[in-house]
Amino acid sequence: MKFDTVIIGGGLSGLACGIRLQKKGVKCAVISAGQSALHFSSGSFELLNRLPDGTAVENPVEAVAKLEASHPYKKIGDFAKYASEAKQLLADSGVEVEGEATENALHLTPMGTLKPAWLTLSEFSRFKGAEEFKGKKVRVANIAGFLDFNMKFVTDALEDMGAECCQELIHIEEVDRLRKSPTEMRATNIARVLDKENIHNQLLTILKNYSIGVDAVVLPAAVGLASQKLVKALRKAVPSVVLVPTMPPSVSGIRTQQQLRREFERLGGVFMLGDSVVRADVEGGKVKAVYTINHADNGIKADNYILTTGSFFSNGLVAHSNEIVEPVFGLDVDFAADRAEWCDPQFFNKQGYQTFGVATDANFNVKKEGKVLENLYAAGSVLSGFNALYEGCGAGVALLTALYVADNLK
Ligand SMILES: Cc1cc2nc3c(=O)[nH]c(=O)nc-3n(C[C@H](O)[C@H](O)[C@H](O)COP(=O)(O)OP(=O)(O)OC[C@H]3O[C@@H](n4cnc5c(N)ncnc54)[C@H](O)[C@@H]3O)c2cc1C
Repeated sequence: MKFDTVIIGGGLSGLACGIRLQKKGVKCAVISAGQSALHFSSGSFELLNRLPDGTAVENPVEAVAKLEASHPYKKIGDFAKYASEAKQLLADSGVEVEGEATENALHLTPMGTLKPAWLTLSEFSRFKGAEEFKGKKVRVANIAGFLDFNMKFVTDALEDMGAECCQELIHIEEVDRLRKSPTEMRATNIARVLDKENIHNQLLTILKNYSIGVDAVVLPAAVGLASQKLVKALRKAVPSVVLVPTMPPSVSGIRTQQQLRREFERLGGVFMLGDSVVRADVEGGKVKAVYTINHADNGIKADNYILTTGSFFSNGLVAHSNEIVEPVFGLDVDFAADRAEWCDPQFFNKQGYQTFGVATDANFNVKKEGKVLENLYAAGSVLSGFNALYEGCGAGVALLTALYVADNLK
């Protein structure tokens, strides 16, 4: 099998890269082991919420100048252009988002707290500050038996912001049937039921009643798995509905992943799901072929290869007792030699391991034993030099580095 470019990893970064390359007429295959971070997404895309020194960021385009040279954003040059093109790529793929790279806005987390973000899927509400909830009457509704939306946390958080809350449990017969097996009560299964037209209409009737006498009806985002249109229709019919992302699985994140995959395939890309790249032939500073579980003997060949295997969460990086390794190619990894610097015992503190990742040159070419591999690039959360959690820049790095790499293959 021969392609122009093989992308290893089919999360946000790999798919964005593949879409960009297919649009340029570069024939790509994406090989992807399975779930990506998008399956756990909050429905918001972060670009830069905080500088490494803890300073809060309101305008990522302005703040990016203050980052260290080792940060992936400093390698891509025109940050604002890539941010704008990333937003356009999502829109072209049918992923409707709101937001600008010059102004972070707040969105509700599954805990009911407010967090800054760059882009938010259009079904979710964006806020300027906690004061928007002050004195507001809010009905917090949940699907009866659904445990991945914690009404108490959400209610407490909204009340802390000054809202006056009451709670409701929604009973819909067909959803109640899922409760026979508690493992069925996951957001995706509920969404499959609520997305049926007749059930959707029942939900609308309930929500219209709930909206009487309150400023907002808060509902877990367990709707709209197949299409964003359904959620838009719901919000149009009951404008006071405020959707809150649920604990994983994320209905909106899974839908986004599917939309990006469909766009990649529509453009002619080959998506090989459920297969893992396990080894490669490397000769003379170049990758010659990669081998997967399903293609253990027949190498998959390409002119260029792009590593978008994610961080520890997706096994793009693996921690051993005294080292961090990149498991497919055995690439050079930037990590702290002193193990004490890997983790802070205070869970919510800045965690050193978050900045670990594969070492790359100025063009995102990776290195092995100190030598650059000419036709192997890396993008997304497998990269070193940023802290996705602390700086709030995970999706931004995934998207912007993917586009940059796609534009700068040799
Ligand atoms: C649980 C979680 C939730 C997050 N939520 C948000 C959020 O809401 N907003 C935000 O801005 N950021 C979030 N982030 C940050 C996140 O890292 C980025 O947003 C982004 O989605 C990462 O994309 P990626 O493509 O680099 O990596 P990933 O999404 O991790 O994708 C890597 C892919 O590579 C595949 N893979 C790995 N190894 C191989 C192999 N050997 N062969 C083939 N395939 C392989 C994996 O199966 C996976 O599909 C979250 C991160 C995590 C871990």
